[in-house]
Amino acid sequence: MKITNLFAKEGLLVKEKVPLFRHTTFRVGGPADYLFYPRNFLELSRGFEIFEAENIPTYFLGGGSNLLVRDGGFRGAFISLEKLDFVEFEDELVRTGAGVPLARFLTLCAERGLSGLEFMAGVPATVGGAVKMNAGAFGQEIGSLVEEVTIYQEGRFFSLSRGQLTFSYRFSSIPDEAVIVAVNLRLKKDSQEAINKRMADYLFRRKKTQPLNEPSAGCIFKNPPGFSAGALIDQAGLKGLRAGGAEISRKHANFIVNRDGARAQDILRLINFAKERVFQLFGMELEEELRVVGEG
Ligand SMILES: Cc1cc2nc3c(=O)[nH]c(=O)nc-3n(C[C@H](O)[C@H](O)[C@H](O)COP(=O)(O)OP(=O)(O)OC[C@H]3O[C@@H](n4cnc5c(N)ncnc54)[C@H](O)[C@@H]3O)c2cc1C
Repeated sequence: MKITNLFAKEGLLVKEKVPLFRHTTFRVGGPADYLFYPRNFLELSRGFEIFEAENIPTYFLGGGSNLLVRDGGFRGAFISLEKLDFVEFEDELVRTGAGVPLARFLTLCAERGLSGLEFMAGVPATVGGAVKMNAGAFGQEIGSLVEEVTIYQEGRFFSLSRGQLTFSYRFSSIPDEAVIVAVNLRLKKDSQEAINKRMADYLFRRKKTQPLNEPSAGCIFKNPPGFSAGALIDQAGLKGLRAGGAEISRKHANFIVNRDGARAQDILRLINFAKERVFQLFGMELEEELRVVGEG
């Protein structure tokens, strides 16, 4: 039976041949064979069972804000977490579905006078994606607020508590085969006014230094210990360098922006060129923070 029919028979929401440029902040990427939207944990496990039985590879999609999908797309199924979007407050502890957009989450927290994540204002991620990547800014990281993560891996759901998790710079110990379905975060009480002011300050600082009005995936490279990847690319004279519709941002050299219908191959050319030049000039190897997936 066709996959879509199998899913329809069980009342599961799946789409076929979905252009992924619509689901990434880079606005780049070919089609996925399938895009599955589980609406609860049961649907998620059932969908995985079907994909596994049919030998269909899967890949997890949060906000698509750290993702470059190659132009040929993905032969398999993307699993969007966006419908796992519950938020439950219990005093200073918050449990959220992995697909909750950070922007909405920050607003809800501010309304309840819960502080801790203001530094993430302006980051177009989901809570699950941010925890997976241990997203951070201005010297702070989301991992430090995580109390527990619920994941689905190899056919079962289980929770990992703080002591069972490791977070470091743009790294979490959550394996790539596991999908985060929910996260418990510990926040702190503060006044709504103070929280909103901090968010506005962080957003202001971000807008001053980052090209937020152009499609991008945030920083392309991790900062090598003691150095700034952006400064190295800038010193290599690469700001403004173009390949097809992609450009190394003139505002922030660690950003590549999609100026004009860029293809993934344009972006990959710039990435490889920047790595080569920085290595030639400074002897330093830049490592991608960006996740690259799909066929060329
Ligand atoms: C304008 C802009 C500014 C940014 N600023 C910052 C910043 O200041 N700091 C920072 O750290 N990052 C920043 N980023 C990058 C990005 O927002 C983060 O890496 C973020 O954590 C990605 O979250 P996401 O939900 O969009 O994940 P996606 O991009 O969808 O996925 C990223 C990776 O995580 C995996 N993943 C996603 N969700 C799950 C899940 N539920 N379970 C398991 N794996 C999952 C995906 O498979 C993929 O490998 C910025 C991006 C943009 C576009």
